[in-house]
Order: sequence, then structure tokens, then C-alpha cells
Amino acid sequence: MSSLAAALAQRQRDRLYRRRRIADSPPGPEVVLDGHKLLSFASNDYLGLANHPELVSAYAHGARRYGAGSGAAHLLGGHSRAHHALEEELAEFTGRPRALLFSTGFMANLGTVTALAGRGDAVFGDRLNHASLVDAARASGAVFKRFRHADMAHLATLLEQQPGRLKLVLTDGVFSMDGDIAPLEHLARLCRQHQAWLMVDDAHGMGVLGRHGGGSLQQAGLNHHQVPVLMGTLGKAFGVFGAFVAGEDTLIEYLIQQARSYVYTTALPPAVAEAARASLKRVREDHWRRERLAELVTRFRHGATQLGLPLPASHTPIQPLIIGSSEEALKVSEYLLSRGIWAPAIRPPTVPKGSARLRITITAAHRPEHIDRLLAALEESRP
Ligand SMILES: *Cc1c(COP(=O)(O)O)cnc(C)c1O
Repeated sequence: MSSLAAALAQRQRDRLYRRRRIADSPPGPEVVLDGHKLLSFASNDYLGLANHPELVSAYAHGARRYGAGSGAAHLLGGHSRAHHALEEELAEFTGRPRALLFSTGFMANLGTVTALAGRGDAVFGDRLNHASLVDAARASGAVFKRFRHADMAHLATLLEQQPGRLKLVLTDGVFSMDGDIAPLEHLARLCRQHQAWLMVDDAHGMGVLGRHGGGSLQQAGLNHHQVPVLMGTLGKAFGVFGAFVAGEDTLIEYLIQQARSYVYTTALPPAVAEAARASLKRVREDHWRRERLAELVTRFRHGATQLGLPLPASHTPIQPLIIGSSEEALKVSEYLLSRGIWAPAIRPPTVPKGSARLRITITAAHRPEHIDRLLAALEESRP
């Protein structure tokens, strides 16, 4: 245990130590954390749906009808009519033949990549991919090559040089700590040239991007022939919990047989599936949520530019303010906290060394005056 204690102490000295704050409120623009009322810019509830009365009521009805838990894995009786209906609705929503529910996005990535790729295969991943895609690639036993962020020339070289029975390319649709969108059309073209499969993790695009909220692939006009594997999550813009993979019938049947994080785990509570179905309705119909979100993002970017704050070119709700050192990032975050604003400092290893940042997320539930309060506090935070 003393080696663990030493590692913890080092982490503290490096200003990389993380701690949890206790929430006493539902997600929303105003939260109670560690007993303090705060204006929050930290949530992934991009459309402001997590506490929507229709979702909460669907959850309660689902629990009354099906009980609190599913009682078993999907293959052993735990696959309820609610799960099945949600899968069919998600397939239709994404314009793909079928969808398969997983309990979390982490498990969807892990189960899918390890089912598809193994020894003798090659997996390629963007350097800024989410940790769950990185771990999935490593766990697969395939050769794993990482390409420089969004660098298609680098990926092309790796695809040419690396032999593999199957070649599988992994990318986030929207990068979780930077907010930029992957060069999806280019990726799809390159994968076709090299007979590689493309898998897109759209945890942050689903619900937010595309005309009907169908995500980054809908926005780019790419279908399941061009991008055979799509992963989406239900815990971010959908405001609930869970994840899914959508694609061709054969892919889904294969995953049902082979994805270990699907087979060997308890199915989501059916009530969660009912809440997600209610959420899907809001995602599809409430265009105004995406419109309001876009307006607030524009307001923030406009104000930040006027203040001379260095914002990368992100047009998604993820607006990183890159600061550099962990120490400085923590200082700014703590200053905001003293002004009643919650915007956590994101530090290595979540982001590359020297690029610690505030990860500011904007949601459709924010109001213009919330954005203005954030901008005013950011202005005051500067030395
Ligand atoms: C959050 C996230 C996941 C994991 O999804 P969970 O449902 O929270 O496990 C996967 N990929 C990306 C890009 C994410 O941001």
C-alpha cells in the first residue's frame, strides 16, 4: 500500500489529484455541489433533457411495469419489450437496419472492438480518441496504431504500411475534450480505398448534430455502407443512461453472439429504456433545443473572442479554454468557483501534457444571462 500512497502523493504534488463533489440536485444550469449553489458549465446534458418531466414520468411508469431492475442478462431473459422497442426506434432514428443496446458507452466500445478485431488484425485510432476506444483497441490483441489528431495523411501511411486481415479505424465523431468534429467524409473515403472498416463513437454528436439530431454521421450524410459501425450513447444529450451500436443485421447478430460486455452483463433496467424512448421523442421533435443551443454557443464564442480568450474552432457545445499548466487551469477553475460558477479543470492524462483546460459545456437549458455571467467571471479571472 505504501507504493500506492507514494503515487497519490506525487499526483497531488503534480496538481493532478482529482476529487469528487457531492451533488444534491438534478443536472441543470443550476446545481448544488458540496452544498453550494453553482451555475454549472460541466454537464453533457446538452439538450437539457435529463430532468424533463416526460422522461422522469416514463422512468417511473417503466419501474412500475417492469420493476427496478432487469433481473438478468439480455440472453437469459433480461431483454424486455422496452429494450426491444428502444432498439427498433434507435435503428430507425439512425437510418440503420438494426441497433443493439449496451449498458454504457465504455462497454459498447470495449465489446464491439474486441469482438471485431483480434490477433492478426490491425486497429487504427485518432490520438485524441476517448479512453474507452483506446482501451478497447489494446484489449483486442490486434496491432494498434495511433494517428496524429485528424491527420489523414498520417492515417493513409499507417494503413499502407500495416498489414492486417481486418483493418478497423476508430474515431470519435465529436472529440470529447476539444469539441471539434472528425473529418468523417475523408475518413470514410480512405477506409474504402484501403478496405478498412470505420467505427465512429458519436457520444457527443448524437442528439446534437444533424437535422434531426441523428449525430455527426447524419450531418455528414454518411450511411452504414460508408461507416459500418456507429456507437451512440444515451447518457449525454439523451439525458438518461446506456449506449447502442447501430449497423447491418449481420454486425448486430455477430455482436449479440460475441461481444463479451454484452453477453456477460445484466441488461439495463427496462425503466431506463422507457426513459430513453421518451427522450428520443424529445430529441427528434424539439428542434428548438438544438437551435437554442447553437445560439448560446455563438453568444459565448462571440463574447470570448471580444475578450481575446483563445478558443479553438469548435462549433459544438464543448468549448475548451486551453490554459496549459495544470496549476493555472486549477487556479482559473477555483476562481470561477469563488464566483459561483462550476467549470472543471481537465488535466492530463485526460488531455495531453501542457494542454490543461477548462472544459466549458453549454446546454439548451442555459439562458443568455448565464453565458454573460460566465464571460464576466472569465474576464475578471485574468491576472
Ligand atoms: C462518455 C463517452 C463514452 C462513454 O460513454 P458512457 O455511456 O458514459 O460509458 C465513450 N466515448 C466517448 C467519446 C465519450 O465521451
